[in-house]
Amino acid sequence: MASPVKIKASVSEVVRHTGSVASYHFKPQGRVPKFHAGQFLHLALDEYQPNEQWPESRVFSIASAPSERHEELAVTISVKGRFTERIFQTLENGSECWLKLPYGEFLFPPDKHLILIAGGVGITPYLSLLKQMLEEKSEQAVMLYYGIRSAEHYLFGDLIKRCEAELPNFGKAVYCEDGSAPGEKGVLNIVAIHAAAPSGSLFYLSGPPAMIGTFRKRLQDLGVEAERVRVDDWE
Ligand SMILES: Cc1cc2nc3c(=O)[nH]c(=O)nc-3n(C[C@H](O)[C@H](O)[C@H](O)COP(=O)(O)OP(=O)(O)OC[C@H]3O[C@@H](n4cnc5c(N)ncnc54)[C@H](O)[C@@H]3O)c2cc1C
Repeated sequence: MASPVKIKASVSEVVRHTGSVASYHFKPQGRVPKFHAGQFLHLALDEYQPNEQWPESRVFSIASAPSERHEELAVTISVKGRFTERIFQTLENGSECWLKLPYGEFLFPPDKHLILIAGGVGITPYLSLLKQMLEEKSEQAVMLYYGIRSAEHYLFGDLIKRCEAELPNFGKAVYCEDGSAPGEKGVLNIVAIHAAAPSGSLFYLSGPPAMIGTFRKRLQDLGVEAERVRVDDWE
């Protein structure tokens, strides 16, 4: 695994998805180390002086494909507290910030059947994988379960549509609480997801802590070994 590197970057694009969720695309100003889909970076807004202490930062899943790393790094951020509010209010095209990467063990082995479960903005750690799979025309079996509150929270529909059209073994199921988005009306059901999964599948959980806690416990009760359940824990 590459050692983390600190890089200055400038914002090349901001996409505001909702009143509190936005994607930021960065143009790196230094050498970006190799990273794997599913890993995350530290984002600092204040100037970093080499040999001084790293400024206050928060961590975000890398949402761009590993192969694009020299041209672009991206994250998708949901405003939760003081720091993410500051990102949302201050970062715009041309803004400069500091990134430190790569980190994390939320990785996707290429030879397993993957069950990706996303609650809301928990879709972010899967974006890099989906982009990489499209580039590689991957034949890996991947099923994405995506739970959202309403249609405005359905992010990256175009990317998911491309995966369905171009990847032979990709599937998706969307569950929308108020029925305003295409898909099933309701919430993700981990018992049904488990029942539909081929044996030996790896289960990935990313989303609100309450969802992760409940689903992890349910999978354990259903006899899924701990090593087949991977969690992107934002706590
Ligand atoms: C592996 C991982 C991946 C993540 N990926 C994403 C993602 O892709 N998108 C996304 O929106 N969110 C992601 N998060 C959550 C994100 O990092 C923030 O923790 C979250 O958005 C909280 O919001 P905030 O920082 O604005 O809250 P704040 O209110 O600013 O702080 C939240 C917490 O951060 C800690 N904190 C406070 N001050 C400091 C400080 N000076 N230095 C360090 N920590 C401090 C405290 O525990 C505080 O309660 C991820 C978290 C993890 C662990």
